[in-house]
Amino acid sequence: MTNKIREYDVLGIGLGPANLSIAIALEEQAQDNQLSYCFLEQKSQFEWHGGMLLDGTRMQISCLKDLVTLRNPMSPYTFVNYLHTHNRLNSFINLGSQHPSRIEFNDYLAWVAKQFDALVHYGQRVIDIQPIEEEGEITKVKVIATNIHGEKTVRIARNLILGMGGMPKLPEQFQGFEHDNVLHSSHYKTWSESTKDLPEHPKIAVVGAGQSAAEIFVDLCNRYEDGEVHMINRRFALHPADDSPFVNEIFDPEFTDHIYSREEAERKDILNHFSATNYSVVDMEELHAIYERLYLQKVTGKGQHKYLRCHDIQETGEKEQKIALRLNDRVNHQQNWQDYDAVILATGYRYDEFHQMLNHMQPLMTSSPVERSYRLPMKDQCSVNVFLQGCCESSHGLSDTLLSVLAVRSKEIVDALLEQKSSLHDEKMSA
Ligand SMILES: Cc1cc2nc3c(=O)[nH]c(=O)nc-3n(C[C@H](O)[C@H](O)[C@H](O)COP(=O)(O)OP(=O)(O)OC[C@H]3O[C@@H](n4cnc5c(N)ncnc54)[C@H](O)[C@@H]3O)c2cc1C
Repeated sequence: MTNKIREYDVLGIGLGPANLSIAIALEEQAQDNQLSYCFLEQKSQFEWHGGMLLDGTRMQISCLKDLVTLRNPMSPYTFVNYLHTHNRLNSFINLGSQHPSRIEFNDYLAWVAKQFDALVHYGQRVIDIQPIEEEGEITKVKVIATNIHGEKTVRIARNLILGMGGMPKLPEQFQGFEHDNVLHSSHYKTWSESTKDLPEHPKIAVVGAGQSAAEIFVDLCNRYEDGEVHMINRRFALHPADDSPFVNEIFDPEFTDHIYSREEAERKDILNHFSATNYSVVDMEELHAIYERLYLQKVTGKGQHKYLRCHDIQETGEKEQKIALRLNDRVNHQQNWQDYDAVILATGYRYDEFHQMLNHMQPLMTSSPVERSYRLPMKDQCSVNVFLQGCCESSHGLSDTLLSVLAVRSKEIVDALLEQKSSLHDEKMSA
C-alpha cells in the first residue's frame, strides 16, 4: 500500500514559541481562508529549552510578552488566561513579579501547544527541502523529514515558515572533541540528571559568561558543595544584563521598523551598542548571588569554586578519562593545564542553520535582503513563500531571537501570507 503524500498550504518547521505563535495567528487571523497547515517538530513532545529548565530560573522578559497578548490581549492563548484556567491568577499576582519561573512559562507554552496537537507532527526532523518544478514554475516544495528510526516522510508545501531556533555553538577547540562529559549547555539538565561516572567531589569547568553559564555555575555549586567548579571567562568581569526601561524600548515591536529602515552600518552600530541586553550578560540578582557565594568562601575558608577571569582556552586534550584544558591566564601571564571531570560549554547558539536547510532553494533566491515581512525574496519563477524566524537579527534587530516580538511578528508573517494568497487569486480570476 502506498502512503498518499499530504499537501499543505503552509508548513511550519519546528514548534518552539515562534511557530506556536504562528499557529495562534493562523487560527485567529486566517480562519476564513481555509488554509491547510501543519508543523513538524523533531522532539517527541513540546518542550521549551528542556536542557536548561533548572529550578529557580526565571523568565528574563515580562510574561505579558507571551505568544499573543501584544497582538490580541483577548485571545484565549494569553499567559493571563493560562493562569486563570489553572486557578492561579490571584496567587501569581501575589508573587509581585511579571517574571515567572521558566518552569511555569514552559508549562504555559506546553498548555498552548496541547491545544494545537492535531496540527503538529512530533518526532519529525526536517532534513531537506526540494523545489518541485512544473513547466519552469515552482509553486510547491517537497519537505523531507525523518523520524527517530531514520524513516523518511515526504510532505508537500506551498509556503514554509521556519522556526528552528538556534543550534549549539561550540568553540573551535571543542569541535570534534568527543567525551561523555563535554557538553553544550542545551543538554545540561538531562546530563546532570543521568550522569553516574563523576567522582563524589568533581572538578567541573563551565565555559561562558552569559546567563546560561551563570545558572549552570550556581546549579553545580549547589550540587557539589565540596567539589570544585570553575567558571572560565575570557573577559575580566561578569556583566549585568541591561533591562532598564529606556533600553528595553529596543524590544518594542515598533523598533523593528526603525532598525529595518536603517543603513547596514547603522544597524550594526545599534546591535553592538545594545548587545549588553542579551549577549554575555547575567541577570543582576544572579550576578550578586554568585559574587556573594565566592566572597563567603573567603570568609569561611571553605569551598573551592572559582571565577577564572581573562582566561583563554588554548588547547584541549584527554588524560586518564579527564578533560585537560590548557588555560592562558592573561592577568597573571601564566599558562597551565587543568584536568576536569566535566566541561559544560555555555557558549551560545548560532542561527544560520536555514542556509543548510534551504540549500536546494538557493538558485531560486535573489540577492536582495530578507523582506520586512521576514520573507526571503525569490526569483519570479518561484511563488513559494519562505518566512524566517529567529535568523533575521542583523536586519530586524535584537528581538529576533527572543520572545519580545513573537505576537506581532506572527501577525506580520500571516498577513504577508494572506496578501500573497489573495493577489494570486486575483491574478487567476483575471487570467
Ligand atoms: C535557556 C534559555 C532561556 C531563554 N530565556 C529567554 C527569556 O527569558 N526571554 C526571551 O525573550 N528569550 C529567551 N530565550 C531565547 C529563546 O530563543 C526564545 O525564548 C525562544 O525559545 C525562541 O523560540 P523559537 O521558536 O524561535 O526557537 P526554539 O525555542 O529553539 O524552538 C525551535 C524548535 O524547532 C525545533 N527544530 C529545530 N530544527 C528542526 C528540524 N530540522 N526539524 C524539526 N524541528 C526542528 C526544535 O526542536 C525546537 O523545538 C532563552 C533561550 C534559552 C536557550
